Amino acid sequence: QTAAETLNFQAEVKQLLHLMIHSLYSNREIFLRELISNASDASDKLRFEAIDQPALFEGDSDLKIRVSFDTEARTITISDNGIGMSREEVVAHLGTIAKSGTKEFFGKLTGDQKKDAHLIGQFGVGFYSAFIVADKVTVVTRRAGLPASEGVQWECSMSGETAGAYTVAAVEKAGRGTEITLHLREDQDDLLSAWKLKSLIRKYSDHIVQPIVMKKEEWDEEKKAQVLTDEDETVNQANALWARPRNEITEEEYKGFYKHVGHDFDEPLAWTHARVEGRQEYTQLLYIPSHAPFDMWDRNARHGVKLYVKRVFIMDDAEKLMPTYLRFVRGVVDSADLPLNVSREILQESKDIDTIRAGCTKKVLGLLEDLATSDEAGDQEKYATFWKEFGKVLKEGVGEDFANKDKIAGLLRFASTHADTPEEVVSFRDYIGRMKEGQDKIYYVTAETFNAAKNSPHLEVFRKKGIEVLLLSDRVDEWALGNLTEFDGKQLQSVAKGGLDLGSLEDEAEKKEAEQAADEYKELIEKMKTSLGDRVKDVKVTLRLTDSPACLVADEHDLGMNLTRILKAAGQ
Ligand code: ADP
Ligand code: MG
Repeated sequence: QTAAETLNFQAEVKQLLHLMIHSLYSNREIFLRELISNASDASDKLRFEAIDQPALFEGDSDLKIRVSFDTEARTITISDNGIGMSREEVVAHLGTIAKSGTKEFFGKLTGDQKKDAHLIGQFGVGFYSAFIVADKVTVVTRRAGLPASEGVQWECSMSGETAGAYTVAAVEKAGRGTEITLHLREDQDDLLSAWKLKSLIRKYSDHIVQPIVMKKEEWDEEKKAQVLTDEDETVNQANALWARPRNEITEEEYKGFYKHVGHDFDEPLAWTHARVEGRQEYTQLLYIPSHAPFDMWDRNARHGVKLYVKRVFIMDDAEKLMPTYLRFVRGVVDSADLPLNVSREILQESKDIDTIRAGCTKKVLGLLEDLATSDEAGDQEKYATFWKEFGKVLKEGVGEDFANKDKIAGLLRFASTHADTPEEVVSFRDYIGRMKEGQDKIYYVTAETFNAAKNSPHLEVFRKKGIEVLLLSDRVDEWALGNLTEFDGKQLQSVAKGGLDLGSLEDEAEKKEAEQAADEYKELIEKMKTSLGDRVKDVKVTLRLTDSPACLVADEHDLGMNLTRILKAAGQ
């Protein structure tokens, strides 16, 4: 062992450690789930890299995760024979947080422990959760393929002078992979029990693909106590959850698996699990999270679907497996047909992947449709949550996914003059169900805020006649609805555009009145036109208004006012 070098944590890591220890204490058991989850990811990565380089197995392709404990030393050790880490990787992964948007995320923390604990959950807790139960953590690791002399020891102690920093040293490590030893805090001795650890593994990590082994215990008559034997025992089910038949998987197992693949602390909102046969054979297990990830608006944020081929992990965040507007979906796709050496480049071009993506998209939209139309109260609530968290993203689909446009349109929810509240609960179907006798269009108004939409002078005549109008105030609304000319045969019409043709909703008397007014005010209108000059295209007498003296209207084929405003603000 050479002299250890002391390095400082990135500021965000320090913050995370502090928060972790103080706000996640009541969830302390998750440390084991997180460390086992990482060991499993590391095993997956080794199996994948070994496809091209079988030498990485170093003669041992039996991948497993071991959990052991030492009552005297008061330690728990989690070890794997996965991919391991080089020195650079140790510093990069265990000294900084590489996630995009980390800085912004930490800027959002309030100092209120309850609120922050929830935020931390959304951020993902990961490796650092070890410090909830340990005041010192030692990691010894060696990357597969590197010589035994290139092992690395990482150590961090939360007490004493070194808090806020960690040490890295070169060490010998015969076997590849990672071994993490937790030196428990004072009050954590209840974790030093085979029974306790096994129950935690079964509770949180049963779905892990690799076997999680512990030494078997035996009753010792002389000592009158359980003692550890040399024999291994596999504690979890150790098979790919998604490959098992649906009716043999419990709800708890589905949820546990989500926390692993989704790197999420919370439970999923819903999921769909299916095996698809046909042109492409694959299994999909896809989840809708219950909250938006903190980096949903970051263009570089990772997508959440992992690709496997015949149970072999191929890649994380395979962005080709899901359209962008479904980037919040998490889960696994396991193909029976793709080649094992499939690369990102091949995926970009692959027709097979297109088929799989189309299938997955359909499944997810179907799942959402089921939630939205279900009679069960719980499902309605779930759909409302979904809409609140992901509605804005889903809207992008109307413009992006031509093939599923109508399906997506059916999933949209809006505020409207029906309730006159900002709650987005009205679907096109609800709207059509309430249309007036003789009404053949779906009317909407777009504005910058809900209040501006609600108080728009364009609504006056609609309110007078009791015609419902959708109130849109999302930045993407005008663009999204611009991509949608009709729903279910009913034309979509902005009330702020073009000549207002209310068709048979207009009565003859009113029409006549308008014509007379146009005659009567001819002179005034001419005067207004001259004085407004180039600033307007036309000045007209209208039936639109009941209280307001005048309003601006965009021409039928022009960009809407709101979009014009946005483009202007963007300097276009
Ligand atoms: P995440 O798993 O979401 O990436 P973590 O905090 O759990 O975040 O882990 C951070 C990183 O540290 C991992 O992405 C991985 O690169 C590395 N790492 C952690 N544990 C192991 C391990 N047992 N073997 C190899 N690499 C690991
Ligand atoms: Mg992790």
